[in-house]
Amino acid sequence: MKTLETEALLAAVNEWVAIESPTPDRDGVNRVSALAERLLRDLGASIERISGGPDFGDILIGRIAGEANGPGILLLGHMDTVHPVGTLAGPLPMRVEGDRAYGPGIYDMKGGNAMAFAALSHLQANGKRPRLPVTVMMIPDEEVGSPFSRAHIEREALKHALALVVEPSGEGGKITVARHGIARYFVRTTGVPAHAGAYHAKGRSAIREMARQVLAIEAMTDYARNVTLNVGTIRGGTHENMVPLHAEAHVYCLVPLPEHEKEVRERLMALKAVDPDVKLEVTPGLYRPSFVKSPEIQKLYDHTAALAEEIGYPVAGERVAGGGSDGNFTGALGVPTLDGLGVLGDGPHTHQEHLLISCLVPRTRLLARLFETLPA
Ligand SMILES: [Zn+2]
Repeated sequence: MKTLETEALLAAVNEWVAIESPTPDRDGVNRVSALAERLLRDLGASIERISGGPDFGDILIGRIAGEANGPGILLLGHMDTVHPVGTLAGPLPMRVEGDRAYGPGIYDMKGGNAMAFAALSHLQANGKRPRLPVTVMMIPDEEVGSPFSRAHIEREALKHALALVVEPSGEGGKITVARHGIARYFVRTTGVPAHAGAYHAKGRSAIREMARQVLAIEAMTDYARNVTLNVGTIRGGTHENMVPLHAEAHVYCLVPLPEHEKEVRERLMALKAVDPDVKLEVTPGLYRPSFVKSPEIQKLYDHTAALAEEIGYPVAGERVAGGGSDGNFTGALGVPTLDGLGVLGDGPHTHQEHLLISCLVPRTRLLARLFETLPA
């Protein structure tokens, strides 16, 4: 019986983290996909690579046989991070401090990817196979909402019995059983330009109109229902002595349920310019539908919690996560999805991003036990 060792697992994680892979850097993401491909070939997987074209790295798919045939497990992970190239050599070098291992993307979610691969190779090293076939799907564009990968994820999801997502765990190791929806909107105002000195009265300011719209949009936030609208970026004008012709803003909305998404969309699309001489356009952007906990997901969670108990590293409960993941797509299609199966840690998307080294062995074992025992 080969055992899992902390040192080896941390080394495996660091192999992923050492390659910087911000979403727009397709070569960086493809260096990660080359690593994933090598690991999948070692597992005896059949490989499929879907080109991400000029904008994105490739989707990498590895199919591993199980003891049984039929619809299997879709294991989802993403290879991209939000950290620009230079983060490793600058504000977030790889380092260990006590139980914490730091690095860009180590928590979200290269640690989880490395554990999933290690779990499969652990089974293989012990002469075992997953009970169901496992499709490992590595995504290049999750951090920008998976515009390229979404359709591919959905197509694969429908061929599988269930989906496991190794995004980071919640606090104390919580497993994600549902996720709120995320909707994005683009707002643009077009005014009437004029010289701000001599002809101010003839102008109609796009910025002034946008300022009013920002207040109206943010006023739609309803904390009691967890519906939030955030105007996250705003741009406008070209010169201080001109009444501005254009302004634009990006809105990021948390919409826990499909009915919230519908309500927010209707209200945003119905916005009218306060100044009739200014044109207002609202365009919907990427939408990640919510996934809600079904009886099948409850069963998956209960099974996982029982396995974690056996291992002696309990999961600390379930959670509904605010941010989106590719699990939103599989969950929204009704494919039983368990998310947040990755590492424990904190600081995603910041220069304090780290995982807890002590979770590596028990959480890898948990993944191996899931592959061995599912469907529950
Ligand atoms: Zn992530």
